[in-house]
Amino acid sequence: MSYKSDIEIAREAQKKPIQEIGEKLGIPSDHLLPYGHDKAKVSQAFIDSVQGNKTGKLVLVTAINPTPAGEGKTTTTVGLGDGLNRLGKKATVCIREASLGPNFGMKGGAAGGGRAQVVPMEDMNLHFTGDFHAITSAHSLLSAMIDNHIYWGNEQDIDVRRVVWRRVVDMNDRALRQINVSLGGVANGFPREGGFDITVASEVMAILCLARNLKDLEERLGAMIVAYRRDKTPVFCRDIKAEGAMTVLLKDAMQPNLVQTLENNPAFVHGGPFANIAHGCNSVIATNTALRLSDYVVTEAGFGADLGAEKFMNIKCRKAGLAPDCVVLVATVRAMKMNGGVAKADLGAENVAAVEEGCANLGRHIGNLKSFGVPVVVAINHFVTDTDAEVAAVKAYVETQGSEAVLSRHWEHGGEGAEALAQKVVEIAESGASQFAPLYRDEMPLFEKIETVAKRIYRADEVLADQKIRNQLKDWEAQGYGNLPVCMAKTQYSFTTDPNRRGAPTGHSVPVREVRLSAGAGFVVVVCGEIMTMPGLPSKPAAESIRLNDSGQIEGLF
Ligand code: ADP
Ligand code: MG
Repeated sequence: MSYKSDIEIAREAQKKPIQEIGEKLGIPSDHLLPYGHDKAKVSQAFIDSVQGNKTGKLVLVTAINPTPAGEGKTTTTVGLGDGLNRLGKKATVCIREASLGPNFGMKGGAAGGGRAQVVPMEDMNLHFTGDFHAITSAHSLLSAMIDNHIYWGNEQDIDVRRVVWRRVVDMNDRALRQINVSLGGVANGFPREGGFDITVASEVMAILCLARNLKDLEERLGAMIVAYRRDKTPVFCRDIKAEGAMTVLLKDAMQPNLVQTLENNPAFVHGGPFANIAHGCNSVIATNTALRLSDYVVTEAGFGADLGAEKFMNIKCRKAGLAPDCVVLVATVRAMKMNGGVAKADLGAENVAAVEEGCANLGRHIGNLKSFGVPVVVAINHFVTDTDAEVAAVKAYVETQGSEAVLSRHWEHGGEGAEALAQKVVEIAESGASQFAPLYRDEMPLFEKIETVAKRIYRADEVLADQKIRNQLKDWEAQGYGNLPVCMAKTQYSFTTDPNRRGAPTGHSVPVREVRLSAGAGFVVVVCGEIMTMPGLPSKPAAESIRLNDSGQIEGLF
């Protein structure tokens, strides 16, 4: 049997006008700001007007440690949303927007797959409603104002060697990682080293996704640290007086984007912070708004549960006062095999023993998620190559962990294929069993917070950090930042900091290489291992085969 590609399926979608999708959520058409026929932003006035509504159930979709291909979290999020709607629940999907640059490196979209997708998927993966361009512009305005401030006399006494605010562009461009700026003579300013990150790594992105409203956005932007003086005191964005103009540039980007699934159910696609140096979830404003308009909100966290779900709980939920009612942990037979030591090339052959071996990874994630007080259901995202014996092995294992695994065929059959999963989610969410609590208290010292995550989630024996790093954390505590959560940046492929150690390793330690303060976003980034904030393109970038065909359709993107 042959299957259509994601883009072929997406192109056949019977989309409804976006006003009809808005109607399902009770959004009057004059509060929808349309971008074409199939995308719209929701007006700030409408968002403000529904904040008193009662909230629906919140379902988080996360995954085991992924294989390089991704485990189908987005696909499952969308499929589950459609499945819940088929059961008569008013369900909304909340996912992230895609970064532009990576599309031109490797093929692959961020809108789900098979019969579980949001549309229009090409727009969503490219310019969409311009939110990321707005973020690039706001970020760049601050970059320009910092060098301009230095040029016109440097009243703030910025140490030009200690400007920490970098530049951003939404493109994979390794040539820009480290550069010299202000070259070329007196009229061009004071030469210094600088560099670019990709837009999604900007602190502005993290802030847009955590801010409750425009006022909160402006305050957080003002609180970002952009440089240090010779005496090491921080210079804030508000010292450069950029936060007001940045907020103006971001005012439309702050409003969530409404689109639809292939089955014409509502989806908010909004924000897209990096999942390593930031928290990796869609915006608080989208989740909060969706919760006030729906019975169920299904949302996704980036990477595996050790990073994505941990940050969703400890950063997003803590900051936004959210509490998930149920967690869906996505597992695939393929990934179980990889965690059980099978090489990528051999994934096609049935291998029940490797599946069983790899289940240790799944088991640890189940235990971890339960430690937040939230009930867990495992979704086996079905691949047509999975055998019955392999699926049965996963189900049997999950039962030994005190949870249930449900086989879900949304990729092949859309919402209908996810009905069993949806049924289970409803059962759990409506039982009121969730007793969510973040893993640590705000008051816990920063280093202890790092240890708590390392020991309780990664199951490491210890955290290794130089005195310099420990002192830095102490300094931040003295400056009033001690109550912030920590944002761990480590590999997504393993519980350890070594991407090759799959399964459920023990006896490891977590070395901390560096700590960074994202004072506006409101977390301390803990860098464990190599973290790339400006990706490069591969030797044969996808861009080489992307083109418009004679009928004006995009080819080669997916
Ligand atoms: P994640 O959100 O975990 O990164 P995605 O949902 O984006 O993963 O899926 C990654 C890729 O895998 C997509 O191209 C999607 O079409 C494909 N995929 C997901 N689930 C399945 C499945 N059950 N069968 C075949 N392909 C799938
Ligand atoms: Mg995804």
